[in-house]
Amino acid sequence: MKTGLVIPPEQGLHETGSHPENAGRFPAVIDRLGEDSKRHGLPVFDSRDAGVEDLLRAHTESHVENVRVAAETGPTWLDGDTVASPESYNVARRSVGASLVAVDAVTGAGPGVDSVFAIVRPPGHHATADRAMGFCLFSNAAVAARYAREVLGIPRVAVLDWDVHHGNGTQDILYADPSVLFISFHQWPLYPGSGWIDETGVGEGRGFTVNLPMPPGSGDREHLEGFRAIAGPILDQFDPGLLIVSAGQDGHVADQLANQNLTAAGYHTMAAASAEFAAQKGIGLVAIHEGGYNPETLPLLDHAILAGLGGYTPDLSGDSPAPEVGDNGWTERLGQVRRAQSVYWHI
Ligand SMILES: [Zn+2]
Repeated sequence: MKTGLVIPPEQGLHETGSHPENAGRFPAVIDRLGEDSKRHGLPVFDSRDAGVEDLLRAHTESHVENVRVAAETGPTWLDGDTVASPESYNVARRSVGASLVAVDAVTGAGPGVDSVFAIVRPPGHHATADRAMGFCLFSNAAVAARYAREVLGIPRVAVLDWDVHHGNGTQDILYADPSVLFISFHQWPLYPGSGWIDETGVGEGRGFTVNLPMPPGSGDREHLEGFRAIAGPILDQFDPGLLIVSAGQDGHVADQLANQNLTAAGYHTMAAASAEFAAQKGIGLVAIHEGGYNPETLPLLDHAILAGLGGYTPDLSGDSPAPEVGDNGWTERLGQVRRAQSVYWHI
């Protein structure tokens, strides 16, 4: 399995000050993934600017304009968590553009690899069609999915979001769209508060949104069970022509923004399982970075993911151990998800 990277060099210019989502998150990640790239011969693709016409595939004109003006006159707080500084509009367009370069690369429209990991900030999955929120300006994943549909003519696209927070923005944009399947693993309850089991889509989109709200304390075992029991079979039946992973690593046991117990081995397994699914279907995979806020552990986690995509053995030394957790309600929750989704899918 051939994987690659796209890493826009300008992303440090999205200045957020002392904020969990800050310019210090990625320098060590980029060093670590750069070593992987050299050792395993992984291509690193140049990014490009997404055009306004691309942003409009998922966002309203007024939202795009709001972000542009907020940045121009910034720093401007767009909500309690989300700031636009003078370069933020340009960096966010570069971040979306990196996601589109990744889509091109895995679909034959570009240089030809099986998967690409786009290391981008600001993240995207909380940005709705018409507003910025939760550190996010534009939904990289939703724009990438729509681009694959509208420009490349791929009939069905799946978005798998394993960030610890619910991908409310991506869900909101795609909620009525039966051509894009959205599956989200997230801690519940947690910010932003959405993502309960009964949010399954609307209108023609009913059945094409799948939420797995994980109880606090869930770790590798619970996530992998959710993969095997729910996400895997639904992805298989949906039969997408492209898989997009919203890869947020803030469910790691040492991440300070949530209470989950995933380890680097868990992220590696999820990435490898996703790559294996894509290989079986003969489709491309694009992983787009979302959260992950512990700068000490993020390089290891992103290395684990890249190794899972590329099919090489990661070095997981230095990971934090996950505590033993008793029954946290997961088994019952899994049953609830299965009942809600069995209306639409054979699971
Ligand atoms: Zn998150």
